[in-house]
Amino acid sequence: MSHLPTPTLRPGGLVDQFGRTARDLRVSVTDRCNLRCTYCMPAEGLPWMPKAEMLTDEEMLRVIGLFVRDGVTQVRLTGGEPLLRRSLVALVEGIARLDPRPRIAMTTNGVGLERVADRLVAAGLDRVNISLDTIDAETFTRLTRRDRLDDVESGLAKAAAAGLTPVKVNAVAMRGVNDTDVADLLAWCLERGYELRFIEQMPLDAQHAWDRQDMVTAAEIRQRLSERYTLTPLPAADRGSAPAERFLVDGGPAAVGIIASVTAAFCAACDRTRLTADGQVRNCLFSRTETDLRTPMRDGATDDDLLDLMRGEMWRKRRGHGIGEPDFVQPDRPMSAIGG
Ligand code: SAM
Ligand code: SF4
Repeated sequence: MSHLPTPTLRPGGLVDQFGRTARDLRVSVTDRCNLRCTYCMPAEGLPWMPKAEMLTDEEMLRVIGLFVRDGVTQVRLTGGEPLLRRSLVALVEGIARLDPRPRIAMTTNGVGLERVADRLVAAGLDRVNISLDTIDAETFTRLTRRDRLDDVESGLAKAAAAGLTPVKVNAVAMRGVNDTDVADLLAWCLERGYELRFIEQMPLDAQHAWDRQDMVTAAEIRQRLSERYTLTPLPAADRGSAPAERFLVDGGPAAVGIIASVTAAFCAACDRTRLTADGQVRNCLFSRTETDLRTPMRDGATDDDLLDLMRGEMWRKRRGHGIGEPDFVQPDRPMSAIGG
């Protein structure tokens, strides 16, 4: 017998049984990628989603519009590599036309951003997170299996020039690969005015090679940074639902973030929900289930039908991701097909 309240008792809006409300929608606009980061994808890539299964721009905008109508205030475009979706600029324009207009952000590896940043800003993109784990060219190639560090650096510079400031850099530290370089990466970001955030590696790689014993913890990253810089924790009150613990660097004003997604999960304050490129709503990165919107949408579902499905998915959100618990099972979908 189910211990969950019946759907008829469910209140309106994107709420769950633990009192959380979804405000931040992550949309994976494609599962394809031009890098092969070892913590995300196997060297040979993955079987990409068939085009027919992917939401069209019109379908994606319809669903995003319903999320916004139901309380979402920020839409983050991600993937896969979002810049590989040909219609990305048009998608941003469509989201910027929604009323109320949500904030529009993007997480990208930065390859190719140089060419399109101005158009994205003109379309309405407000902010960007660019993933960069190392500034050592050899280590970059080893980690991403592609020799594209120059492209990422020029993408970052262009993002700043185009006004997508403060430019944020996301980094994952990998044992024996870039874990000893974290202070160099911070120095490089400080020089350029980019705000760096480290995130603990999570069990979301397609190869299922993640190993808790091998993971570089937030505490370890803090320790390594502290060997070169004085880190002063910013009050938790400034953090809200943002998962990064932030530190002033050498008294500020620059800051660095460390996201202890595994060792100090922030699930209790989570305000996220997700839409995959093939039209599935996921209430958590680590969900083992998802709710299909594409099929009902193509079968003629009304907006109210879709809202009911979206709300049902949120209502079923679990209290926490459960990594480290005996019954934890990694989701079938890899990070690149969920949207990080
Ligand atoms: N391709 C884009 C990029 O790399 O920024 C967007 C998608 S990527 C899946 C989004 C973020 O997830 C990136 O910052 C990446 O470093 C991070 N990521 C990927 N796999 C991860 C893992 N196993 N653990 C933690 N972060 C991961
Ligand atoms: Fe591609 Fe981003 Fe995954 Fe790297 S982390 S393989 S850039 S989707």
